[in-house]
Amino acid sequence: MSGSEHHDHDHDHDGHSDVPSDVALRAKALFSLLADKGLVDPDGVDRIVEAYEHRVGPHLGAKVVARAWVEDAYRESLLVDGTAAVQALGVGGWRDGSRLVVVENSAEVHNVVVCTLCSCYPLALLGVPPVWYKSAPYRSRVVMDPRGVLAEFGTHVGPEVEVRVWDSNSEVRYLVLPERPLGTEHLGEQELAALVGRNAMIGVERVAAPVGDVTD
Ligand code: FE
Repeated sequence: MSGSEHHDHDHDHDGHSDVPSDVALRAKALFSLLADKGLVDPDGVDRIVEAYEHRVGPHLGAKVVARAWVEDAYRESLLVDGTAAVQALGVGGWRDGSRLVVVENSAEVHNVVVCTLCSCYPLALLGVPPVWYKSAPYRSRVVMDPRGVLAEFGTHVGPEVEVRVWDSNSEVRYLVLPERPLGTEHLGEQELAALVGRNAMIGVERVAAPVGDVTD
């Protein structure tokens, strides 16, 4: 459980930031200092930020999920060694030496990911984490009351389903392999990937069936 400060106020999952503004200020001050001393190259930092904001993003994770849905052998390799399986697909270059563990949702188990200590996240597959993922309320509450937090995201998990909360750290990052929605048997890999959003791969939401699709 997190030892960090705990706010009891309600937080808006898509709206305002819970990150104190002094963190942003401190980061800015530190960055200017490093740039002044010639220890970081501001253009290089801009390029990295640009990459994580535009080229790297949840579409990479979605590609992994869709492949796992259509190819059982790939799914198995992903669950055995996530790092290697993701690299085999040519996405998510893992440069920081961390290990990717993929956890699979099913009718029996619902997985959800957090970093109680800070904000560890599979950046290479999902891009920049959402503000709520880094917020103190999410980090502490998802451990104490995962079903309650999931319900706030509109994800209702029945009592018959076991909820597992995975605490990321600098060595291990987690990706949730969501359940393939019913009524998607006719869809190809790219169409399936288009259904998979970031929140489903963190585990706070399920993947919804395509809009307007008729499921039997
Ligand atoms: Fe962290």
